[in-house]
Amino acid sequence: MTEAEKTDIHEKIISEIKRLKHEAGRLTELTDPRVLEDLDEVSRMDAIVSKSVHDAALSAARQRIGELEYALKRIKDDPEFGYCAECGEEIPLARLMSMPEATRCVDCAR
Ligand SMILES: [Zn+2]
Repeated sequence: MTEAEKTDIHEKIISEIKRLKHEAGRLTELTDPRVLEDLDEVSRMDAIVSKSVHDAALSAARQRIGELEYALKRIKDDPEFGYCAECGEEIPLARLMSMPEATRCVDCAR
């Protein structure tokens, strides 16, 4: 991996974290239990159902932020970044650009 490619991935991670934090903030508002208090019975049932969807999306977003922050650390400090943890092959740039937190190549991730 070239330095320029590393910079690209680094920027990608930063913008992805930013996007996810924004998303997590929005979901946190949506999952605020106080929202339910102001609703009538029917809307409350609806809100409870969508709350569970939002809760799941929120925890997925938080988990991905954690993985991306870890990738951000690794891209700076770990010379093994970009290499498959399983077979040691270089992980293709396209895969790292779409999933910078990937630690395995597509074959090994299967
Ligand atoms: Zn592999």
